[in-house]
Amino acid sequence: MSKADRRVALVTGGSRGIGFGVARALAAEGLDVVINGRRPEPDVAEPIAELRSLGAQVLYCRADIGELADHGAMLDAIRGRFGRLDVLVNNAGVAPDVRADLLDATPESFDRLMRINLRGPYFLTQAVARWMIEQRKADQGFQAAIVNVSSVSATEASVNRGDYCISKAGVGMATQLWAARLGEFGVPVFEVRPGVIRTDMTAGVTDKYDKLLAEGLTVEPRWGVPEDVGRAVVVLATGKLTYATGAVLPIDGGLTLRRL
Ligand code: NAP
Repeated sequence: MSKADRRVALVTGGSRGIGFGVARALAAEGLDVVINGRRPEPDVAEPIAELRSLGAQVLYCRADIGELADHGAMLDAIRGRFGRLDVLVNNAGVAPDVRADLLDATPESFDRLMRINLRGPYFLTQAVARWMIEQRKADQGFQAAIVNVSSVSATEASVNRGDYCISKAGVGMATQLWAARLGEFGVPVFEVRPGVIRTDMTAGVTDKYDKLLAEGLTVEPRWGVPEDVGRAVVVLATGKLTYATGAVLPIDGGLTLRRL
């Protein structure tokens, strides 16, 4: 495949954790990747080098996904470098700084989580969707996909992080809305719902989940790893799952499987 034919994926929050696992899987599959994060580029030299070692062209875009004003510059940089964008993976997200009980949680934490986890990706999807529609009109063979990374928290109620749960439930509806809207343009929209994945986000609650996993929290008795989510996103982003727009894929080792 010539360089001009290579598909390009933007993975928000692709500099570490689940997002990096997704970027690595897409790079290994032959896509060029744009990763985004909040840190300055020299701080992410290592993940960038690893992606390049897989044969991918890599662009790093420093941007706060919650800041809509940052989106334009990021997409301009992608246009300038690649002239195309085939895949958007809305992965960047944050947990509350403090896990606070519903009776104590603050509006500031609520607003922060909505801004980064829901409002930002929702409007980034709008901007990318407009560009994908243009690309599709110019080339009927253009094969796009949008994948939202939500969480089991979209459906499982945790009373010490209601803000997080509501933001992820919102991502679930955003998936359905964008899937419904973009069908006519041949852009499928999917959602992956990770369970307990070993990353920096869960580093502070290792003991809690070690114990819950030992007690049977999941059917598959282990922590999830970013590669588990990466494999799922490759399937969704490369057109291997057909006639399935709006599909939700749990990557949770059976955590949400109803058992009696
Ligand atoms: P993580 O290890 O904390 O990594 C977060 C990534 O997102 C980093 O690349 C970070 O960039 C980036 N990021 C954070 N805030 C951002 C912002 N405002 N703008 C742009 N980039 C931002 O998190 P993770 O565990 O990989 O989680 C990734 C996604 O999966 C999140 O949406 C999370 O809610 C979801 N999820 C995680 C789990 C889990 O168990 N870990 C389970 C279900 C769902 P910097 O490196 O620059 O800070």
